[in-house]
Amino acid sequence: MSSTTTAQTLRSVSPATQKFLENTQGLRIGAGTDREAEQGATFASIDPTTETILGSIASGSSKDVDAAVAAASAALGSASWGGASAATRAKYLFDLADAVEDHVDQLSELETLDMGKPISQSREDVLAVATVFRYYGGWPTKLEGSVNPVRQPYLGLTQLEPLGVCGAITPWNFPIVMASHKIGPALAAGNTIVLKPAEVSSYSTLYLADLARAVGLPAGVLNIVTGPGRSVGQALVEHPDVAKISFTGSTPVGRGILEAGSRHMKKVNVELGGKTANIVFPDADIDAVVRGSAEAMWENAGQVCVAPTRMFVHDDIYDEVVRLMGQQTAALQIGDPLNPATDIGPVVSSRQYGSVKEYIDIALNEGARLTTGGRLPERTGYFVEPTIFADVNNNMRIAREEVFGPVLSILPFNSEEEVVQMANESAYDLSAAIWTRDISRALTLSRRIHAGTVWVNTSGRLDPAQSFGGYSKSGNSRELGRESVMSYTRSKAVMLDLSV
Ligand code: NAP
Ligand code: MG
Repeated sequence: MSSTTTAQTLRSVSPATQKFLENTQGLRIGAGTDREAEQGATFASIDPTTETILGSIASGSSKDVDAAVAAASAALGSASWGGASAATRAKYLFDLADAVEDHVDQLSELETLDMGKPISQSREDVLAVATVFRYYGGWPTKLEGSVNPVRQPYLGLTQLEPLGVCGAITPWNFPIVMASHKIGPALAAGNTIVLKPAEVSSYSTLYLADLARAVGLPAGVLNIVTGPGRSVGQALVEHPDVAKISFTGSTPVGRGILEAGSRHMKKVNVELGGKTANIVFPDADIDAVVRGSAEAMWENAGQVCVAPTRMFVHDDIYDEVVRLMGQQTAALQIGDPLNPATDIGPVVSSRQYGSVKEYIDIALNEGARLTTGGRLPERTGYFVEPTIFADVNNNMRIAREEVFGPVLSILPFNSEEEVVQMANESAYDLSAAIWTRDISRALTLSRRIHAGTVWVNTSGRLDPAQSFGGYSKSGNSRELGRESVMSYTRSKAVMLDLSV
């Protein structure tokens, strides 16, 4: 029933990573590469594997946000950025992609130490970031305006402009990936950015800002203000000179940001929580179902907005799938996330650990059947065994709420109608997955499922060329793809009277 626990490996990281952690990390504002917060305040970053302090980071204030927005505004009007050609902006993004790849060791070590993600997954994240920057490096030179079929004697043009200073607020679960989803399209369209990463995992974003500086991105184009959401984040949302807020995080915080940002007449994009329905029909390739679902579910210890946490399995194959998911899960290696063989590291923080533990108790009290895991390994670090509950019903809290940890619910279903209804009965509409060999069924159901993304015979896959985002309580926008870069532009109509 339980998963195996690997021995602690030697926690050695590259000298560059060590050096980065030894220095108190400052804010990245304007030309300042490493600047103290206004009041000299710092906060400690905790390693969730050892529960020890990794290092300290500047804790910004609203004054620091003011300074960062001023630097970003100045860069907009500068010859080096505001006046740069589209090809120059493209080159910065391509060079940043190369730099990210060159520093994959340091960036992935920082991510893993800071938030407990297994190193193999951190490496994949960092390499994905390079592809995001490369994808958006292709856009500056393709952002075309139009000549419109207006009546005579006029000539009507539409031109695309950057919005201006964009504020970005990112969550802790995919720190560098989420940063790239905002930085890539914002810079492609010629904006400047002030970014606030989540306190619990700020390091990789700071390192990324240093790489941007090293490839010559002009001062003030990318500014990072670390510190609490309630002060730094809020100041950004309320700042009069910030044109847009792009937020990824939880639904309650997102709702507050949407309200506050709208009051200040900003464009506010929110990417929020999820409770992905993962629907398995009897004609599916069961090996692929188990492999694909387990991989997507246990990635980052289940702390993934698109984790397929509600697995609906048809009655005909229910017992078999429950058994195989248990088998696959019990074979996972829990342990030091710096060990390349580790599949499951700790959850991000003691707070998250407490919350996941509570959900396991809630599920047991509600009568869900524990089939796999459920225990908290007796070792230092915020480790939770990957846990499967079967015979869950759609009204139980673990089926309705975002657990954001390694806890999977499996629910039986009998008919297509029933499963569509259950899948759609959710507070979230981020994503869904359908496993079937019947292509008509897959396409029909993908229309009927309320979600911004539907995967067929796979789960959790993103690609920079494909927009991603939720409906309703899961968000109001799309990241990646064309839609995202367009959301960092505004159009201007220019009309000329040709008879004059
Ligand atoms: P969170 O608590 O909502 O925090 C997200 C960010 O907002 C953090 O940087 C946080 O800063 C900041 N923040 C908190 N309160 C704020 C306020 N009043 N004003 C401005 N900023 C504020 O979310 P999280 O726990 O970091 O991340 C997990 C959540 O993100 C889950 O719900 C997950 O589903 C969602 N998520 C969604 C997507 C998607 O693409 N749809 C992707 C990844 C994650 P501090 O934490 O430093 O205070
Ligand atoms: Mg940390």
